[in-house]
Amino acid sequence: MANSTADMRLSGGHPALDLANTVDSRRGRWGPDFLRSFEDLLVLADRLDLVDRQALARLRRQAENDPPKAGAALADALALREAIYRLFLSEDAGKPYPIADLRLVEDRARLGRTHQALVADAAGYRWTLPFDDLGEMAQLFAIKAVDLLIERGRRRAVRECKGSNCGWLFIDHSKGGRRMWCSDASCGSHARIKRFRSRLKGN
Ligand SMILES: [Zn+2]
Repeated sequence: MANSTADMRLSGGHPALDLANTVDSRRGRWGPDFLRSFEDLLVLADRLDLVDRQALARLRRQAENDPPKAGAALADALALREAIYRLFLSEDAGKPYPIADLRLVEDRARLGRTHQALVADAAGYRWTLPFDDLGEMAQLFAIKAVDLLIERGRRRAVRECKGSNCGWLFIDHSKGGRRMWCSDASCGSHARIKRFRSRLKGN
């Protein structure tokens, strides 16, 4: 079983949802929390290819040199994570987005936008953050969350995994739009085994 951002499954299908999924379970029980330090957040961003090596090293150094600032940046990222979670959970429930959560995500994304610079690389031009401040990690994920809100077709809804002790969010890419599990191999197979056992008992 995974117990950190280094070995958790990335099955959200989008960085913003993978951030929301850094709590191992939100159904049945809550936790454990995989985001226990700013370093955990950096590890996640690295696995999602959101930051390059130099930026990673720079932020890591800053966090080590200023633990209170790293703690504040982590707290901000956790608040953002919960806002993103509630936002997309409401989509699965067919409810309107909670306005306070929407505003928090918007606020962090807007802050990030003001820091972005246009840079060229092999693939062409793109907006990027300078990554010279720890607060930019939350801004980065907020920008991703807004991208997810804006760029997704109606058909690709965000769903909540109904596995017991899960509750992870994922984008439903299935044809019928009825996918139930964050991962067929874990939550899906647990549910199948449970159904199979209850059928045996019934016979
Ligand atoms: Zn699941």
